[in-house]
Amino acid sequence: MAEKTFVSGYAALIGRPNVGKSTLMNRVLDIKLSIVTPKPQTTRHRVLGIYNEEHSQIIFLDTPGLLTPRYKLHEIMVKTVWTAVEDADVILYMIDAENRSHEKDFALLSSLTSVNKPVLLIINKSDAIGKENLLPIIQAYQDAMNFTEIIPISALHGDGVELVIECIRSHLPEMPPYYPPDVLTEQPERFFVAEIIREKIFQKYKDEIPYSTTVSIEEFKERDENKDYIRATIYVERSSQKGILIGKKGAALKSLGRIARSDIESFLEREVYLDLHVSVKDKWRFRDGSLKDLGYK
Ligand code: GDP
Ligand code: MG
Repeated sequence: MAEKTFVSGYAALIGRPNVGKSTLMNRVLDIKLSIVTPKPQTTRHRVLGIYNEEHSQIIFLDTPGLLTPRYKLHEIMVKTVWTAVEDADVILYMIDAENRSHEKDFALLSSLTSVNKPVLLIINKSDAIGKENLLPIIQAYQDAMNFTEIIPISALHGDGVELVIECIRSHLPEMPPYYPPDVLTEQPERFFVAEIIREKIFQKYKDEIPYSTTVSIEEFKERDENKDYIRATIYVERSSQKGILIGKKGAALKSLGRIARSDIESFLEREVYLDLHVSVKDKWRFRDGSLKDLGYK
């Protein structure tokens, strides 16, 4: 038998808000995926996640531009989605089967007709409509554009997800993996965010303070209409240290939050709301359970 070669490449996930992009990513994550965000200098895109298999690597690109409908659609295409589309090997355009107003999608898709790349139409939420309602949708989109493949799925229940993966894979070039699978699986977005906050603590505070602190990301919520919400807690060992970190009337913590947020935003390439707290965790450095709670073990 001939030796299997490795395929690797980028898949841009495009679609209007609420069609189910995040749900699909979570579903794929369930199978085998790690959410990563390399440093902005190494990529122009926000990497949603990397799907690693023995003989393939699929890098999913997020396209947040389509999530701001207050701008003219075409401008959004040009400005934010275009670079992802340009670098993608495969384009996934996702629609919501339940949504009956397809004009906006047709407008967006018309900008893709000049792209000489495989475009897959992913019809999500097919579980929510009857089969007889699926056919007219397929027909309408087939008439609007020549898709490489039209795949009805239910991201929620997982139906058709494997098919999407297979289809992407079949259109990827023979290529060694772009990212080392073992390294990046351990460095999710929140890891980098915690590291940035830690770095700022080291810059801002002297003596034992930095060494007595650790940062835990308690909540990391992506919000389509608002800035992403990040709640982080800085753990210190003594209440005196807590006082120093917070400062007079909270001024020191506020200023720490400001500089950390600025770096986090340029790292993530999007705006965030950073909710920063300080909490005392007695001798956290020396206690096994605490270390585990904080993600060190
Ligand atoms: P995004 O804005 O494109 O990332 O959309 P989300 O993934 O946040 O999903 C928006 C809503 O659609 C959520 O309430 C999901 O639970 C729901 N949803 C996503 N996929 C499916 C699906 O396959 N079937 C059904 N019935 N609902 C879904
Ligand atoms: Mg989403």
